[in-house]
Formats: sequence, structure tokens, C-alpha cells
Amino acid sequence: METPKNPHSIDYRIREGLSRLATVLRADEWERAKSLGLNPTQLSILTLLEGRPLGLGVKEIAAQLGVSQPSATDSINALEKKGHVEKHASLADARAVNVHLGQSGLEILQRKAGTDLIGQAIGTLDDDSQQELLVTLIGMIRGLQERDAIPVQRMCTSCRYFDPFAHPKGDQPYHCHFVNAAFGRRDLRVDCRDHVEADPTFRAATWEAFQAG
Ligand code: SF4
Repeated sequence: METPKNPHSIDYRIREGLSRLATVLRADEWERAKSLGLNPTQLSILTLLEGRPLGLGVKEIAAQLGVSQPSATDSINALEKKGHVEKHASLADARAVNVHLGQSGLEILQRKAGTDLIGQAIGTLDDDSQQELLVTLIGMIRGLQERDAIPVQRMCTSCRYFDPFAHPKGDQPYHCHFVNAAFGRRDLRVDCRDHVEADPTFRAATWEAFQAG
């Protein structure tokens, strides 16, 4: 039995904490999706397609959401019937089809609905703690993507426009060359529509510089 003198390992306890949060996050997602007349996978697909003007193929959608291709296909077909997504030939390969967010899908995403218990919990943390948490999550996501457990996410730390510690003095040490502006830790992106994936060597060097800062 776990006692203060004989605790489980720290990774076990962090996993326990993440598991509790994941339960609430799933409940939030179910609640929001239900109130919008969708299921959670359908809502995740709409969210994923937002800010992707070229759309995504079914395979990419399935990989990003961690679901099987048949499951992604079923959800996409249901969304298409409701008019929330559209399918168009890919610009890169006319034989391939990409799925795009439709106007009604965008309107759905803009509706306020459901609970946001996780958002409320994040709101109880002070600014420093929120920033620490964001950086910690980015580090964990990066670890997973570098092990090919998940696709590369559209995060600043994997973006070729990201320049860590270009401005070492002050609270906006990073630089985004896409918008040519300095920014700080609280503005690090996890899913940026302007992200361009850097090659692995650049990503590794960027991450090293980011951590050293
Ligand atoms: S384009 Fe987006 S992801 Fe890339 S550095 Fe700028 S803000 Fe970050």
C-alpha cells in the first residue's frame, strides 16, 4: 500500500494525475459534442480541420486523432451528410481527396456549448504555473513525436520559423520569423496554422537551444 514513506514512483503518480485529468477532459468533450449534435470524434475532426485551408486526407486525419481509418471515414461521411465538411481533389495529387471544413462546420466550432471543467481548473493556476504547464506539455508532446508515437504537431518548437532566445533579455525571448515578431512563453503554440515543419536536424538544434534558455 502507498504511504508517505513508501510512495509509488513519481512517474506512476504523474500518470495517475494525467489519467484523472484525461477522464475530465473526455467528459468535457462528450458534453460539448453532444450539445452540438456530434460525437467526440466528429468534433475532433472539425477542430483538426480548422486553420487547414488545404484540408487533410483521411489517413492524416486518422493518424492525428489516433483512430483507425475506417472509424475516421465513418465520422467524415457523417459530417459530410450534415454539410459540415466537404471533399475536394487534393492540390498535390488530383487522384487523392482531401477533407475540408465547410461553412456550417466552422459555425459549429464557433458556438459556445457544454462544460469546460478543464478550462476552469487551468484558470485556477497563476500565470507562472500556466506557463510552466504549457512548456511541460510541449516537452512531453515533443518526446512522443520524436519517438514516432504521434505525428509531428504544429508547435513552435518544431517550426522552421521559430528562433528560440533570439532576444535573451526580457520576457519575450523567442522570435517568429513568419510574423517577424518577438513573443514569450505564454504565447508558444501547440497547433499553429502558420507552422511549417522543420527538418529533424533543425528541430533537434531548436529544442536544444530552447531548453538551454
Ligand atoms: S509560425 Fe506559428 S508555429 Fe511557427 S514560430 Fe510562428 S507562431 Fe510558432
